[in-house]
Amino acid sequence: MISKNRKVAIVGTGLVGSSTAFSLITQGVCDEVVMIDINKEKALGEVMDLKHCIEYLNRNTKIKVGSYEECKDVDIIVITAGAPPRPGQTRLDTLDLSAKIAKSIVDSIMQSGFKGHFIVVSNPVDIIAHYVYKLSGLPKSHVIGTGTSVDSARLKNFIGDLFNVDPRSVQAYSMGEHGDSQMVPWSHVYVGGKPFSKVIKDNKDRAGDIDLDKLAMETAQAGWEVYNRKGTTYYAIAAATVGIIKAILNDENKIIPVSTLLDGEYGEYGVFSGVPVVLNSEGAKEVVEIEMTEEELKKFKKSNDTIREYISKLNNK
Ligand code: NAD
Repeated sequence: MISKNRKVAIVGTGLVGSSTAFSLITQGVCDEVVMIDINKEKALGEVMDLKHCIEYLNRNTKIKVGSYEECKDVDIIVITAGAPPRPGQTRLDTLDLSAKIAKSIVDSIMQSGFKGHFIVVSNPVDIIAHYVYKLSGLPKSHVIGTGTSVDSARLKNFIGDLFNVDPRSVQAYSMGEHGDSQMVPWSHVYVGGKPFSKVIKDNKDRAGDIDLDKLAMETAQAGWEVYNRKGTTYYAIAAATVGIIKAILNDENKIIPVSTLLDGEYGEYGVFSGVPVVLNSEGAKEVVEIEMTEEELKKFKKSNDTIREYISKLNNK
């Protein structure tokens, strides 16, 4: 159930957290945003800056610095606390620190009596989402990792640019790990409802010698292309996170690829992985099982094995 006074808390008010808050208030998505950070001065600075936007926005969203004790009546808590990878590190290399941070946060939040939804952004996101699910004891529908939501948006951008169409007219998913092992089920890519293989065939002038493996790799690497130029990424993930928040708060039944606990879907168990999910006020309501080719399913399962390997590393600590 979503409360009348729609409240979103953001834990970690760094680049991703503050961009998410900015996107929330500019779109007028909720009534109140609570900013929480171990660095209280940083949280306060962000709150002050965000409040100074209100005069020029469509609505007066309440924004304040908060604490874990007041999370009881929060609808959604976004976890972005963590440290982005340092140069040379992968997302998986940040696991130990992110897990330590997640434990301290989730334990404190659950003590408040929180019963809402967690949206996990901190990397490695699939593994941290699984950990938050275990630590919180909440139903699986209430813990969502942003997963491949942002990678799928990047894939749609590439395809949109290639064929000169709005990326929102492209239907495509990147699935599996939000990391190097993610994969694209090409048999389920459509442009305006037209199967991608047919689009390529009919538009040889635009598609050229399109290499799908290369395009999938470029999708997985797109975040690093941003990272290499500006040192990190935050706008796209903030937009994806707010898309997920809107789907929950507005009971949209929107399908977004997010990381959710697989419980038999795609023949997979006990792993948080990026798959298309129907999102509404219940959270991750239902996994959409697309029918992949044998080869695609193999790649998807291999990606899940990578996630599983790190989940068990964390469990064994
Ligand atoms: P950042 O360094 O700008 O901000 C992190 C914030 O977390 C800081 O303000 C820090 O004070 C806070 N923090 C650290 N420990 C804390 C604790 N114990 N309790 C509360 N707050 C704490 O980093 P960022 O660029 O905002 O990235 C944050 C996380 O998001 C990283 O894990 C990064 O890898 C991840 N990320 C994920 C995606 C995605 O697609 N899932 C994309 C970009 C970044």
